Amino acid sequence: MGFFNTLICTMPCPACGVTGERRVQFKYGYTRQIEYRVGEILSWDGPEVGVQVAGTTATCGVVEDCPACGVGGQDVVIAFDNDRFLGVVDDPVRAAALRRARWEDSRRGD
Ligand SMILES: [Zn+2]
Repeated sequence: MGFFNTLICTMPCPACGVTGERRVQFKYGYTRQIEYRVGEILSWDGPEVGVQVAGTTATCGVVEDCPACGVGGQDVVIAFDNDRFLGVVDDPVRAAALRRARWEDSRRGD
């Protein structure tokens, strides 16, 4: 319990707008404190969260505290193409929908 993965990527802070290297926590694929960067391939080689999808898909993530302004915790969208990390999209509405869908999946005993 409590395991997550981290995507490390350059992005603007959703709070202050300063662009820098940020860490985004997510639970998708083989979830075991794995650190990824954009362009790498998500592993499914172990206890899994979610369902592997061919082609383009997305999951929700949470941004860690910003080094510039100290604010974190925003929901963002992490995009994939055939399990390759495309990057982070600052879209709170989409991120909330993805988070709700995953919660409903877990309620079904997924
Ligand atoms: Zn900031």
